[in-house]
Amino acid sequence: MVKIMKIRSIFENFIPYEWEISSQEVAKMANIPVEKVLRLDTNTSPFVPKKWLNKIAEMLPNLQVNQYPDTRYTELLDKICKYANVKEDCVVITNGADEGIDIVSKTFIDYGDKVIISVPTYSMLKISSQLAGAKVIEVPRKKPSFEDDVENIIQVCNREKANVIFLCNPNNPTGNFTEIERIKSIVEETDSWVIVDEAYYEYCGKSTVNLISKYPNIVIIRTLSKAFSLAGARVGYLLANEETVKKLNLVRPPNSLTVISIKLGSIALSDIQQMREWVKEIIKEREGCYNILNSIKKIEAYPSETNFILFRVKGVDANVVHKKLFSKGICVRNLSDVKGLENCLRVTIGTREQNERFLHELNYIIEKDAKSR
Ligand code: PMP
Repeated sequence: MVKIMKIRSIFENFIPYEWEISSQEVAKMANIPVEKVLRLDTNTSPFVPKKWLNKIAEMLPNLQVNQYPDTRYTELLDKICKYANVKEDCVVITNGADEGIDIVSKTFIDYGDKVIISVPTYSMLKISSQLAGAKVIEVPRKKPSFEDDVENIIQVCNREKANVIFLCNPNNPTGNFTEIERIKSIVEETDSWVIVDEAYYEYCGKSTVNLISKYPNIVIIRTLSKAFSLAGARVGYLLANEETVKKLNLVRPPNSLTVISIKLGSIALSDIQQMREWVKEIIKEREGCYNILNSIKKIEAYPSETNFILFRVKGVDANVVHKKLFSKGICVRNLSDVKGLENCLRVTIGTREQNERFLHELNYIIEKDAKSR
């Protein structure tokens, strides 16, 4: 018997999240052991937080994993408040920034609501909005700076009566930052929820956090996945004013963090100095990579205030370069299919050694290899 059950109609025009291929597949293509695969496609940190892992290793025997975590995540909450300089009623702790995006969408978006997204940007902002039933309106970023087109966003928002505006600042995958005053105009001049994804905040040091005490319609999304080297631990948080946090808490699941990740997050936030050292190192490497990339004739690299660099290859097919890098065991993000980012790739900044390996192979591919195609 053939059974035809339906799934939600939103999936008729839906592009799900796409990852690059797995490290195992890259290793096979490159004919190297999987440990040699260099993943420069996920904007994570190359630094393993050994000191913090050793600390938690000592604590493990006493962690009460037989119980659910304390629902307020009290220890972690205190640390986040200190770090972000906000009151505890202004924080919602989440399982990574992705759950933050999900909670925001579920709290603010009704079926058929209009949502504005400043594009190109992190694909989960659109995916999460669509899953909540939104009609997504994409407002293109300015060229060539990739800044948010603030005037257009305000105009479109007020004309279309959009309920939510998603911004990402600094933006993934373009790496640029839109000044706080510009974001403030959007918050002031629309009757819309303005959501600012600040996943890469630590690499630029500028934040809209001071706006939350004055404006009820701004929500900030943050994470420990990037600068704090804890992508695998899944810790993020939302910042907003007290009344808005009450609304977001209607949606927050009770137990989305593990006892272990709460502890690890707390340890990390007790050692801000370590994070700052890593960030300093990444920024130094980023500037070096940026200069080297731009010294290659067939490459145009865009300035970045994050831990990655977007670059366009010229006179060579980016898909070929991407594939050739795979064959050397190096994985970067291919953005060639994204509107406005034609023939672009994005590389995460790694350690000096990793960056040198990437730059060496890229240079070889661009100058010698790709020519022969
Ligand atoms: N926001 C942006 C802009 C990101 O780039 C990412 C990760 N790629 C996330 C959110 C998700 O981060 P998390 O690991 O905290 O879920």
